[in-house]
Amino acid sequence: MNFTMANKPVVVVIGAGFAGAATAWRLALEGARVIVLEREPGPGSHASSQNASMLRHSLYEPEVVALCRETSAFLRQALEEGKDPHLFRPIGSLILGDKAQEEKLMRIGKSLREQGLPFAVLGPRDAARIVPALDGARFDLAVHGSADGLVDIHQLVRLYLRKAAELGAEIRLGTAVQGFAAEDGVILAVQTAREEIPCDSVVNAAGAWCGVIGAMAGAGRFHIEPRRRHLFVTKPLAMVNPDWPFVWHVGRKVYFRPDGQALMISPCDETVVSPGSPRLVDELGEIAIKRVAEVFPAIGHAVIDHGWAGLRTFTDGEHFLVGPDPDLKNFIWCACLGGHGMSTSAGVGRLAAAHSLGLPVDEALAKPFLPGRFASAV
Ligand SMILES: Cc1cc2nc3c(=O)[nH]c(=O)nc-3n(C[C@H](O)[C@H](O)[C@H](O)COP(=O)(O)OP(=O)(O)OC[C@H]3O[C@@H](n4cnc5c(N)ncnc54)[C@H](O)[C@@H]3O)c2cc1C
Repeated sequence: MNFTMANKPVVVVIGAGFAGAATAWRLALEGARVIVLEREPGPGSHASSQNASMLRHSLYEPEVVALCRETSAFLRQALEEGKDPHLFRPIGSLILGDKAQEEKLMRIGKSLREQGLPFAVLGPRDAARIVPALDGARFDLAVHGSADGLVDIHQLVRLYLRKAAELGAEIRLGTAVQGFAAEDGVILAVQTAREEIPCDSVVNAAGAWCGVIGAMAGAGRFHIEPRRRHLFVTKPLAMVNPDWPFVWHVGRKVYFRPDGQALMISPCDETVVSPGSPRLVDELGEIAIKRVAEVFPAIGHAVIDHGWAGLRTFTDGEHFLVGPDPDLKNFIWCACLGGHGMSTSAGVGRLAAAHSLGLPVDEALAKPFLPGRFASAV
């Protein structure tokens, strides 16, 4: 890659959610001149502040688990540096399934084993000893992943940005990207209402709007699908222990986790919508409570206090888009992180920064996420 300024490449990062914030930190660490442009007045204003805060290594693909490990390593380091202990609480997780999901749960165990992460396979009785709310629940098997936990998501986004800023990154809030100057398949500058910023590469970390930004730049057109998901917080329940692991039933599409003395629950809805700020649909709360009562009768009496909806953004095959655009080589996608963008943020940021600067990446790790994997982008 030819950089405009000797030894100090200029990289513009679009979006200050988890993807943009972690990438900015890694770019600054590599010595780049970083400019983060975020349309909203504050960082992490969309999916990155609306998620369930669960750092989940207990997933199917070893390469995704590897990225999650980078985030938990970052968090452990931050705790050692004396950051607020609530930044990461490794309460663990219980991923449940019926007989029909046994193979899926075994895949999770295999991925955790490959990554050297601790786990145990439990039957219903042992799982209910850990989380008494599972008494009488409908499942046959559980994977107990003790490296999983809860993150203070607001602090984490700010921590990435603070570390980036300490290394010289500029974070420009309230600044929307409106266009690009490009020539011969290369982005030369990023345009905002006030100025044109010359750059060597651009990182598209615009979350649900990544397709809008891609089209604006004339990049490859991928199938981008923002899907709405609801979260609800119940009124406090006497039986809840704030240190319970989070619980996810992969077959029955419902999860819950402690939120202090209350529970956060989700009906795992996935309605496809346009990018934006999704409105709360009250009926989803009723569906969530009904599903909780069906699957976890011991907490079936829970009552909803409040809720919200956010967008998880996917491309075909549900694997991330992290890497150079097939048409615009200095336009780097860091998007479509689906339901794991916080968990994988440190690893994804490292990969996106390396692609932006033309640094070597571990091919086996990076390959499944490369935009070029789609033979013909739509
Ligand atoms: C309900 C819900 C629960 C979830 N639970 C979890 C979980 O427990 N664990 C987990 O790991 N993940 C979870 N996720 C997923 C996670 O939240 C996302 O993967 C992650 O936040 C995506 O980060 P992002 O930076 O790509 O997107 P965003 O956070 O949406 O950031 C994109 C940013 O780009 C900005 N932008 C857009 N257009 C422009 C423009 N033209 N100019 C400048 N800026 C622009 C936006 O304002 C926005 O701030 C959940 C998501 C949802 C919705």
